Amino acid sequence: MDKVILIRYGEIHLKGRNRGFFESALVKNIKHKLKDIQCEFTCKRARYMVSNFSEEDEDIIIERLKQVFGIHSISVAQYIKTDLDEIVKTCVALAKDEGTFKVDTNRADKKFPMTSVQTSQFIGGKILEKHHKLSVDLFNPDFIVNIDIREDGGTFVYADKILCAGGMPVGTAGKGMLLLSGGIDSPVAGYMMSKRGLNLDAIHFHSYPYTSELAKEKVVDLAKIVSSYATRINLSCVPFTKIQEEIHKNCDSSYMITLVRCFMMRIAERVALMRGCGCIINGESLGQVASQTLESINITNSQIKTLPIFRPCIGMDKDEIIAIAQKIGTFETSILPYEDCCTVFLPDSPVIKPNPQKVEEELAKIPNAEELINEAIENIELIRIS
Ligand code: ATP
Ligand code: MG
Repeated sequence: MDKVILIRYGEIHLKGRNRGFFESALVKNIKHKLKDIQCEFTCKRARYMVSNFSEEDEDIIIERLKQVFGIHSISVAQYIKTDLDEIVKTCVALAKDEGTFKVDTNRADKKFPMTSVQTSQFIGGKILEKHHKLSVDLFNPDFIVNIDIREDGGTFVYADKILCAGGMPVGTAGKGMLLLSGGIDSPVAGYMMSKRGLNLDAIHFHSYPYTSELAKEKVVDLAKIVSSYATRINLSCVPFTKIQEEIHKNCDSSYMITLVRCFMMRIAERVALMRGCGCIINGESLGQVASQTLESINITNSQIKTLPIFRPCIGMDKDEIIAIAQKIGTFETSILPYEDCCTVFLPDSPVIKPNPQKVEEELAKIPNAEELINEAIENIELIRIS
């Protein structure tokens, strides 16, 4: 008898002729995730499984698999010889002592002498003989004993399904450039888009020495957490101080944040194209702050010429974003109290509905904008995170 971890994929099932493309990406990502753990990964006849691991690595393997997009659920299973006595013994051992249960059988091996229903009934009877406080409930059982009789002479027996992250394998949808601040929302935005199969690159704007080295480290830490779902991330750290100083010196202060955002978007698009990204991702949520009103978003949108912008948090309440941040492990880092470059030169009353004409006039007050952008891009510090 072998203990194995059975892996089931989710939405890939819906794919047609190109399913193989998604399956091989998933296999590659699983292998990458487990590469430093002593274990064997096999996929045969639509069953993926991890086997030959030591007891103490079991929890680590489960935690790692929960971070791989494309996996719907996993089960810790016993892999045994297809033999009725063996199956009975294993199922009886697996059953809990009390409550309600049912047996679910899948019989791929049509040579097995009982049908699925007969097998379930037979095994259910055997379990009841040994566990007197159990009863059968076919519709709402406390637990299910699953029997999966394969064609190769082996049978899986397992009880619980552990729900995993779902989504599509990372890398199957291309690559996106995530605007990563030190806040709560943007790491969540990155997580959500890599869940749909995007590889991520990230860009962070810092205003050293107005913002500290610690603020940058916090962003690196956030990128590390996001990268545990998204394989590897190249983080471009852009020196943004000079641009902010120029805006502060020359422009209407109530437009400070709007103009800062315009420059961020222009630079993000340039860097995204340089790094082979097909979209831009940010953590905006409609109406959350002055820079995220429809009018403000419209202005920042207009700065991007060629790429789509994805805002997966746009329709979410802060509470909902926080719940995801807590689930994926970014929240505690996000709330560390280091300043973001957006808080530098913050005006008392930022414009809530910026006027496009006025934005153009304010931008024209920085005639060397192109030079400043080029200089910022030339001085990017690239940090590779995996
Ligand atoms: P977050 O929690 O993600 O920081 P926020 O609620 O603080 O978001 P804003 O500060 O208005 O909102 O930022 C909106 C979006 O702009 C962020 O989600 C992020 O994608 C991007 N952004 C803001 N500041 C930076 C920065 N310093 N570097 C890179 N991107 C940034
Ligand atoms: Mg922020």
